[in-house]
Amino acid sequence: MLDVNKMKQVLMDRRQILSVKAEEIEGELRTPGDPDFAEQATAAEGDEVLEGLENSALLEISKINAALARIENGTYGACTTCEEPVGDKRLETIPHAAQCISCASE
Ligand SMILES: [Zn+2]
Repeated sequence: MLDVNKMKQVLMDRRQILSVKAEEIEGELRTPGDPDFAEQATAAEGDEVLEGLENSALLEISKINAALARIENGTYGACTTCEEPVGDKRLETIPHAAQCISCASE
C-alpha cells in the first residue's frame, strides 16, 4: 500500500533541493563574463549548459507541483492517461510519475 504522506514528504524534499539548485544556476548565469573575447565564447557555451540544467530542474519542479496537486485532490498514484494504477514500484523510483509505465513509454 502506497503511503501518500510519505510520498508527499519525498516530493517536497525533492522540490526544495531542486529550487536551491535552480537558484544556484541562476546565480552562475548572472555572473558577468570574462572580458577576454576567447574566454567569453567558452563562457557562453557554459551558459547554455547551465540553462539546460536550470530548465530541467524547473521542469521537474513543475512535475512535482502537479504530483502534489494530485495528492491534494486524491488522484495521486492513478495514471493521468488511462487511470490505471501507476504502480508503487514506479512511484518509488519516480515519485512525480504521472503516467503508468505503458502510457509513459508510448
Ligand atoms: Zn496509463
